[in-house]
Amino acid sequence: MTDTQEIKNRLDLVDVVTDYGVQLRKSGRNYTGFCPFHPNTRTPSFYVFPETQTWRCFGACAEGGDVFSFVMKKNGWEFKEALVDLAKRAGVTLEDSRPKDAVHEAAEARQIALLDTAATYYQQLLIHAPQAEAARRYVAGRALSEETVDAFRLGFALDSYEATRSHFNAQGYSDDELLAVGLLSESEERGTRYDRFRNRLMIPIRDLDGRVVGFGARTLDPEGVPKYLNSPQSMLFDKGHLIFGLDMARRHIRDKREVVLVEGYLDVMTAWQHGFRNVVAQMGTSLTEAQLRLLQKQTKRFILALDSDAAGAKATLRSLQLARETLDRDLDVRFNARGLVQLEGRLNADIRIVTLPEGQDPDSLIRAEPDAWPRLLAEARPVVEYVIQVVTADLPRDDAKAKSAAADQVLPLIDDIADPVERDHYLNKLARALDIGDVNSLRLAATRQKKSQARRPTHSRPVEPRPTSPDSFPSDFVPPEPDAPPDEFGTPARSTINGGGGKIASRRLRHSTRLEDNFIRQCLEHPGAFSTVNYLLSRHKQREVTAIDFIRGEDKALLAIIAERATLPAVATIDELCDSLDSALAQRVRTLFAKPSTPGMKLDRLPDSLALSVLDWRLEKIREHNTILKQLLPSGSQTEFSDELTRSYIEQVQEMKHINRARDAMSAAGRRRSNGGPDGRKPR
Ligand SMILES: [Zn+2]
Repeated sequence: MTDTQEIKNRLDLVDVVTDYGVQLRKSGRNYTGFCPFHPNTRTPSFYVFPETQTWRCFGACAEGGDVFSFVMKKNGWEFKEALVDLAKRAGVTLEDSRPKDAVHEAAEARQIALLDTAATYYQQLLIHAPQAEAARRYVAGRALSEETVDAFRLGFALDSYEATRSHFNAQGYSDDELLAVGLLSESEERGTRYDRFRNRLMIPIRDLDGRVVGFGARTLDPEGVPKYLNSPQSMLFDKGHLIFGLDMARRHIRDKREVVLVEGYLDVMTAWQHGFRNVVAQMGTSLTEAQLRLLQKQTKRFILALDSDAAGAKATLRSLQLARETLDRDLDVRFNARGLVQLEGRLNADIRIVTLPEGQDPDSLIRAEPDAWPRLLAEARPVVEYVIQVVTADLPRDDAKAKSAAADQVLPLIDDIADPVERDHYLNKLARALDIGDVNSLRLAATRQKKSQARRPTHSRPVEPRPTSPDSFPSDFVPPEPDAPPDEFGTPARSTINGGGGKIASRRLRHSTRLEDNFIRQCLEHPGAFSTVNYLLSRHKQREVTAIDFIRGEDKALLAIIAERATLPAVATIDELCDSLDSALAQRVRTLFAKPSTPGMKLDRLPDSLALSVLDWRLEKIREHNTILKQLLPSGSQTEFSDELTRSYIEQVQEMKHINRARDAMSAAGRRRSNGGPDGRKPR
């Protein structure tokens, strides 16, 4: 059983909610009280459902969740904090906090020693082995000095399946030990073990303290695949928490109060050799929030130097702006400016971006012209400014539609900025870039966009006091049945919640839970899909997917990870992700991936199908909640009709109509696209 399930089994949501000072009162099978999250004094709008161990506010919040979500929301906590707190309360020992024993620590020390010895072994081979001639030529070709080769402890692995193994066997290391640190690989079919690294330039990866924890290995065979082979993920080699070059760069990062992130190991070495020593690289292709947090301990100022192709930025941004077709192809969106702005807020950091000239990487640029490097870095722009620049670069001066589309692209970014002065600054910048005389029209567009993305109509919006004609409400609006007079809590005395309609309601809930599960899983598996889904939703005037769409605390937390994965230049595999997550979240991910995936889903149709499923589960939740609400509504007298719950009900029904319209439009557009209609392209 997962840690979170264990905690949920041991705790009763009713107790937890009561302990937070919410007075609950039994109402049928459920409990009601005044909502602790919004001013709510007249009609209790907060419900706890003991059978499903979930809660929901039927009033202004219109949000619900499980015990984790409740504690997170109540304390403004991250999932991890809620987990630790509730685990303590439930007496559950979390997998993460189970103590390391002495045996384990001794084994780790031996592994560290082995890896260090291995680094030395490969170093010696690079210097002396006759077979290392090509490796030495490669190093010379890269113009790496002896000092650099020495500082980074570059080495060479012989072109042999046996050499490393027998060398270390002779030194008393067992095959199991060599396998554990990733020096050997094992063939799954035959169970044989052999050297993992063969005919490769060996680049030791060190942790913050300078201990060798693994290797990055570049092939010396022009046809060799993969070009870079890293050590496998292990206890020591946790890519999500390692930064290449940080042990040597940390002092310089602090001195310069700035860190430059590049994409390749060689970029770091060449920069170092030329005296640019605050340069580090993400591991392989992945850049995680954990890595950024590690860097943040040295400085709050980051420059991301993106290769022009990897920056995919331009392509991605353009595709968002104009061409749906490109978007589909770019499912693997490698750069998401909005995610970066949010990350910047979360880390309280200053993130700047610079793109390298076409066809260049830092290594080639610095080697050709060292002075160009600081000049290039000086061009780094804050994320929003960078996006404005990219989006408006080749905009036709008199194309109003294109300008509006460009504005749509940048405004959500600006909206994510907390500081009003900064926000205004960028609005003005955008107005200038778009050649719009009046910045107020942008402000208006921003407000309009925000409204259409708001999760549902707000209470400040005038609401008809009561239906005047059948046309003013959707067909499934059923005025509440007169029931027993409300008691002092305002709820009908003979509540029938979860009776009758409740069964249907919980069946719906189960289905929408499956849709939620599938959404999380697909977005973890296909990181680009998330931004595409949000783009589709906002294009159909639906709000983007946020934490409030999910019931489980873990899923709310995973959504942040999904948003982050959509942000980063490239992403880790699911296994790597699990290794970098807290155990409770990793358990959730493994559970999601334990079931076989739904077959037959074409990747390019994935965002469409996910966006539709989002609308489906939103509809289901509204239907389910309205079933309950209908029974809660006080008898339909005119005075009671302005009551919060009634208003909420009416709004939900309108929201349903709104979603249904979007759903129709969306599936029609999807059909047109798959038929190769005017709105899209032919299926590939
Ligand atoms: Zn509320």
